[in-house]
Amino acid sequence: MSKFLRAGLRGLTAYTPGEQPQDKKYIKLNTNESPYPPGPQVLAAIREGELAELRLYPDPRMQRLKKALAAAFNRDFGLALGVENVFLSNGSDDILNFAFAAFAAEGGRVLYPEISYGFYEVYAEYHKAAAATAPLDPDFRIDTAPFLEKGYALKILANPNAPTGIALPLAEVEAIAASDLDAVFLVDEAYVDFGAESAAGLLDRFENLLICRTFSKSSSLAGARLGYALGSVELIADLALIQYSTNPYSVNRMSEAVGLAVLAEPEYYKENARRIMATREQTAQDLRELGLRVLPSGANFLFAGGDGLADPGGKAVYEALKERGVLVRYFGKPRLANWLRISIGTPEEMAVLIRELKDILGKA
Ligand code: PMP
Repeated sequence: MSKFLRAGLRGLTAYTPGEQPQDKKYIKLNTNESPYPPGPQVLAAIREGELAELRLYPDPRMQRLKKALAAAFNRDFGLALGVENVFLSNGSDDILNFAFAAFAAEGGRVLYPEISYGFYEVYAEYHKAAAATAPLDPDFRIDTAPFLEKGYALKILANPNAPTGIALPLAEVEAIAASDLDAVFLVDEAYVDFGAESAAGLLDRFENLLICRTFSKSSSLAGARLGYALGSVELIADLALIQYSTNPYSVNRMSEAVGLAVLAEPEYYKENARRIMATREQTAQDLRELGLRVLPSGANFLFAGGDGLADPGGKAVYEALKERGVLVRYFGKPRLANWLRISIGTPEEMAVLIRELKDILGKA
């Protein structure tokens, strides 16, 4: 820290992203990336597409990709979205940042689950929002009662939640949207394509609803940094106000091109999601057979541990797996000390995980 850093930032604890180690090749089950490559059209778009045009700035309004996204949601959910209902940015983290800036900064009241995506807390602190949390029960289910209260500027729900993977049914999400039409309700659907119910179908009824999505998980594009939000024209304009006041070119030409290519072949990605869900269920069963508790997941990861990991402990197991070339995510917070978040890889990768875990736990 330099002596120049302003006082207001000195206590800030930054987000710690999952490791991306470069020292050797790991079986990477720690940042919920897809184990499957982007589809053929993406590869073709990169080869032939936008590279020659890189001397030009991208379209700051991202009209082509917004139009394609609106069309996809109109088709899948019977909506009538236009480009002005769609927002695009450099990963959905960027959008969450904008949402805090637009709706909850400087003392605005924001609510999110006590255990959820770690960035919410960081953005709350960075933007000096007044944060409150909804508790989780011993089974890691969110108590939605606080979400039904009035008086918040912004309510954020990851559905499915992370790192638990537990999804809330649509009826409960709808009840939250309806509980306070004066609060922005942001549903973070980063993992929704792996079996949960999307709230997108509610968009035509709730102008306080903002749905945040990403190409990073089910679209195999974590490296492209492409996220989007859907909402009322007014909410999208609020996000754009922040974006155009900071960096209007926050989606680059290559990312727009690969995003379009993803939308041109949805079946490829649906099939991958089906494979990942099947692998998830097999892995959940294998982990339970090793004595671990496994939460029901609607995401591309499993949250596993509990008493089955108490000896030698979550941290020791995480470290032993890393030593053996398998990287999982360990959070180490008090309630999560004996839990690991394990992204779903290919069946072969998960077989290695189970084999190594068996050995580490002395069950081989
Ligand atoms: N929301 C949740 C719940 C996540 O787990 C992640 C991934 N770390 C994100 C948003 C951000 O994803 P991205 O910035 O890659 O779109």
